[in-house]
Amino acid sequence: MGELNSFKIAQEQIKAAAQKLNMPASVYEILKQPMRVLTVAIPVEMDDGSIRVFTGYRAQHNYAPGPLKGGVRFHPEVTLEEVMALSMWMTFKCAVVGLPYGGAKGGIACDPRELSPGELERLSRGYIQAIAPLIGPEKDIPAPDVYTNAQIMAWMMDEFSKIRQYNAFGVITGKPVSLGGSLGRHEATARGCAIVIREMAGVLGLPLEGARVAVQGFGNAGSIVARLLHEMGCRIVAVVDSKGGAFDPQGMDPAKLAAFKARTGTVKGFPGSKNITSQELLTMDCDILVPAALENQITAEVARKVRAKIVAEAANGPTTPEADGILRQKKVMVIPDILASAGGVTVSYFEWVQNNTGYYWTEEEVNGNLERIMVRAFREVYDMYRQHRDVDMRVAAYMVAIRRVAEAMQVRGWLGQKACTSWQREAKTA
Ligand code: GLU
Repeated sequence: MGELNSFKIAQEQIKAAAQKLNMPASVYEILKQPMRVLTVAIPVEMDDGSIRVFTGYRAQHNYAPGPLKGGVRFHPEVTLEEVMALSMWMTFKCAVVGLPYGGAKGGIACDPRELSPGELERLSRGYIQAIAPLIGPEKDIPAPDVYTNAQIMAWMMDEFSKIRQYNAFGVITGKPVSLGGSLGRHEATARGCAIVIREMAGVLGLPLEGARVAVQGFGNAGSIVARLLHEMGCRIVAVVDSKGGAFDPQGMDPAKLAAFKARTGTVKGFPGSKNITSQELLTMDCDILVPAALENQITAEVARKVRAKIVAEAANGPTTPEADGILRQKKVMVIPDILASAGGVTVSYFEWVQNNTGYYWTEEEVNGNLERIMVRAFREVYDMYRQHRDVDMRVAAYMVAIRRVAEAMQVRGWLGQKACTSWQREAKTA
């Protein structure tokens, strides 16, 4: 599989940043794989009375910084290796924004669009029964990801609560607001992404007013990024979903696009627009490109043709390492996934805090705290990038993140006596 193996890609990214920071070899040795993985078989009674057995996974990458955190993906192509890679990215996503979590990820190989609501509910509950020994509000906290939503989180929280015989709100985030969910969580991934795009445009001197935006993926993240950027004055010139796309150089209204998609199942055919393919969108003339779908979309071949000034990765792992090198040479500024998509898990953290304290915040409080955390994280990554002119924003983000995780491992004693960080030297002399 070479270049397109997400697990190998995650390993390469960790290695590059650990080497740049002169970390002891043990740091990479610990971080190059999840600490624990579980594969489960989930028998589900289908509506026709037959039994189908689905395969599910949960990968727990590293718990040094705190409880494990990460979404659950329902997708026909989910594999153990993919879930492992995604769990690794979660550790660094949490670390780059400074959340007290390690990374985890789950998945079920299934096509949720072909399941009835009853089948989906039985599958979601079956998954929680199977992974229950591994999760809990202080252990590992799942959340939504590709093709999972607040309703699925509600079933999952309910199932876990039945097993444990108490209302364990804090075991899952991304729940409906009526079941301990947080205001602002639904929009959070997109809001975080829009904030870092605004910050990046600011340092590049690119006015957002009239900036042309292309968005790949019109789901949980993409549709809301489009709306928020539109509110900031940008022109949404192209969007695609898994069924097709819409292009209009004059710009489209994301609210109307969302209403059209809700009616027809796709943005393709939006009144006044021309059809556009995913490949055409990625390489079109625009200012800001937002890949908000799946992994490995911007390959080397695509990267050679990218014309955007900013690529903001709302998806996990959309750019291959070879493509990264090409974009860097072309001076395209990539806001890496672990930063650009960190808004979701940040508000998941707020949700968990609210569940644990039983005190619920206003939407203004949620958004204000998200804004503060995203701006600070952007500044830290951008400063790291400016300090080391030979690294790109992705390596800079990993450097910020790995330093935090390594420090947690160091003070826990996982790296041995010899590995002494500057932080520890300072503490000793204080
Ligand atoms: N699935 C989202 C992500 O990849 C959110 C994870 C969470 O909230 O725990 O960042």
